[in-house]
Amino acid sequence: MEKEDERREREALDRLAEGLGTGSRAAAGLDAVLEALNERRVEILLFEQGLKAPGVVCPNGDWLGSEGSTCPIDGAQLEQRDDIIETAVQLAITQSAEVLPVRYHDNLDGHGSIAAVLRF
Ligand SMILES: [Zn+2]
Repeated sequence: MEKEDERREREALDRLAEGLGTGSRAAAGLDAVLEALNERRVEILLFEQGLKAPGVVCPNGDWLGSEGSTCPIDGAQLEQRDDIIETAVQLAITQSAEVLPVRYHDNLDGHGSIAAVLRF
């Protein structure tokens, strides 16, 4: 079971590296990943296990980001969250994205500890 998890993680990290290398279908860093989630483009969400970061979320559930005061979609007052990663994971799940806390490899170093493989 563990071997299978490790293989899936390796595969996802390889796709991430390839996407970042060619500048397509990949995002790295909190802002880029949250933007991709807002656009519903995330296929696999990767993050360092235990990662926490503050952020803001629209009460209407249509937008999240690392900072801001009003929602760019509907102008609503954004709510502060101590941990936006948890919100991002929930959003990824509702978008049928795979959520993969990185456990076996260190490849998220230099990618802001969070990254995503994108559908398009
Ligand atoms: Zn909104």
